[in-house]
Amino acid sequence: MSKTVAIIGAGPVGLAAAAHVMERGLNPIVLEAGVAAGHAVRQWKHVQLFSPWEYNVDRAAARLLSATGWNSPDPHVYPTGAELLEQYLDPLATRTPLADVIRTSSRVTAIGRVGFDKAKTKGRDFAPFEIRYQNGKGPEMLRADAVIDTSGTWSSPNPAGANGLPAIGEHEFAERIAYAMPDIRGVDRRRYSGRTVAVLGAGHSAIGTLTELARLRDEAPATEVVWLLRGSDPAKAFGGGANDKLAARGELGAAFAELVAAGKIRVEPGFGVTHLTTAGDRMRIGAGSSCCGRHVVVDELIVATGFRPDLRFLSELRLRLDPSIEAPVALAPLIDPNEHSCGTVRPHGARELAQDELGLYLAGMKSYGRAPTFLMITGYEQVRSIAADIAGDREAAERVELELPETGVCTRGGVEGDSTSAGCCGGPAPAGNDACCVEDVKAKEMGKTGCGCGDKA
Ligand SMILES: Cc1cc2nc3c(=O)[nH]c(=O)nc-3n(C[C@H](O)[C@H](O)[C@H](O)COP(=O)(O)OP(=O)(O)OC[C@H]3O[C@@H](n4cnc5c(N)ncnc54)[C@H](O)[C@@H]3O)c2cc1C
Repeated sequence: MSKTVAIIGAGPVGLAAAAHVMERGLNPIVLEAGVAAGHAVRQWKHVQLFSPWEYNVDRAAARLLSATGWNSPDPHVYPTGAELLEQYLDPLATRTPLADVIRTSSRVTAIGRVGFDKAKTKGRDFAPFEIRYQNGKGPEMLRADAVIDTSGTWSSPNPAGANGLPAIGEHEFAERIAYAMPDIRGVDRRRYSGRTVAVLGAGHSAIGTLTELARLRDEAPATEVVWLLRGSDPAKAFGGGANDKLAARGELGAAFAELVAAGKIRVEPGFGVTHLTTAGDRMRIGAGSSCCGRHVVVDELIVATGFRPDLRFLSELRLRLDPSIEAPVALAPLIDPNEHSCGTVRPHGARELAQDELGLYLAGMKSYGRAPTFLMITGYEQVRSIAADIAGDREAAERVELELPETGVCTRGGVEGDSTSAGCCGGPAPAGNDACCVEDVKAKEMGKTGCGCGDKA
C-alpha cells in the first residue's frame, strides 16, 4: 500500500508538496487551518509580489493545472497576492485532483508517534505519525507515514520589542498595533488616514507599508509617517536597485529612497523599542529607559519586523534546529542573516530539511525559521526533493533541478542591528554591494556553494 503523507498547511509550498507527492503515487492529505487554501496569502492579497510568475509556479502543480485547460500566466508579469490566488492557488486547490485531499478549517494542534513518547527510541522509526487536528466538528486524528510541515510563519509575527520579547505595554496597546502589511489605501484606509503612524522594521514589508503611507499622505495631508528602524543606517534598506535581478524589489527600494529624501517620511534610526505608554489619547513609543530614552508619540504602530516559526505542535517530535535561526541545522548557515544577506541561497532539499525524527520534514517559509530571505521557488525545489525522498528515489532527492534568480543584493558580514533588514521578505540588501556580488560570481566559479558572500573559506 502506498504511503500516506500528511502536509500541514495549504499555502503555495504545501500545495506544491501535495502535487509532487501525488505525482510520486503516494497519498497526500493536506490539513489547512483556514477556510480555504492560500489562507495566509489571503491576508496580504493587496501586496504586489516582487517575483514574476516564472518564479511563483511549481512545475508539478503546473502539470496538474495543465490537465484542466489552465492558461499559465505571463512569466514576466508580477502578480498581486490576489492574482496569485485567482490565477494559480485557487484553481490548483479546487479544480485539480488536489481538491479531494485538502481538508480546510483543520488546524493541526499536535503531532506524535503512535505508541512512542519523545523519549522512547527503539522501534520509533517504524511507528506511524499521529496528527491531531481541530475542525468545525471537534478534535480529529490522522495517521501518516511521513509529515511535511509547510505551515509557514505568517501567524507568528515578531513582536515590537528590540530584544525579541513583546515591548512593555505591547499587549495593552493591541488595538493600536498591526503586524506585517495592513492594506493602507484599501480596507484599512480609514484606520490610518489623517493619523500619525509609525512603522517599525527595515525589510520589504516595512518599506512597502511606508511607501503606501507616503502615498496616503499625498491624498490625506494630515497623515504623518514615522519610520522606526533599529539599525543606524537607513540607506541599508534602499536596496540593491539595478543589481537586484528581482527588478520589482530593486525599484521599490529606489522609490522609497526618494520618498525619504523628499521628507515625506520622518526617519528615527537606532530606535530599539522598549515600551509603550499612554500620551493623552495617543501612544508613546519609547526606546531606552522610560525616564531618559527617546520617544515618539503616535496614533498607530505597524510592526513589520519579520516572523518566527510556531514550533508548539511539534514539541513531541525530535527536532534539530539551529538555536538562533530556528531553521534545520544544515540549512541555517546558508541563510543566517548574521553571516550574509544574500537573497539567493544554494538550492537544497530533503537532505538539509530532514529531521532526526525519520519521516518528518520542515519546508517552505517555516523551514527558514527566523531568516527573512525565503522565495517560493526555493520551497518548490524543497518539496520536489522531499517527495522523491519519501518515495525512496534517493537520486532524484539529491539532484538539484533549480536555477535560482541571482538577487545581486548580498553583503559580507551580516546585517547591522536588525535581522529583518535583508533578503526578499526581509527586504533589500545594503548599498555598496557591487564588490560583494563580484566576489559572489568568483566564488561560484571556484565551485563554492551558497552565494559565496558569506563563504569564509
Ligand atoms: C507580504 C509578503 C510578500 C511576499 N512576496 C513574495 C514574493 O514576491 N516572492 C516570493 O518568492 N516570496 C514572497 N513571499 C515569501 C513567501 O514565498 C510567501 O510567504 C509564501 O506564501 C510562503 O509559502 P508557504 O506555503 O511556505 O507558507 P504560507 O503561504 O504562509 O502558508 C502556510 C499555510 O499553513 C496554514 N497553517 C498555519 N498553521 C497551521 C496549522 N497549525 N494547521 C494547519 N494549517 C496551518 C496557514 O493557514 C497557511 O495557509 C512573501 C511573503 C509575504 C509575507
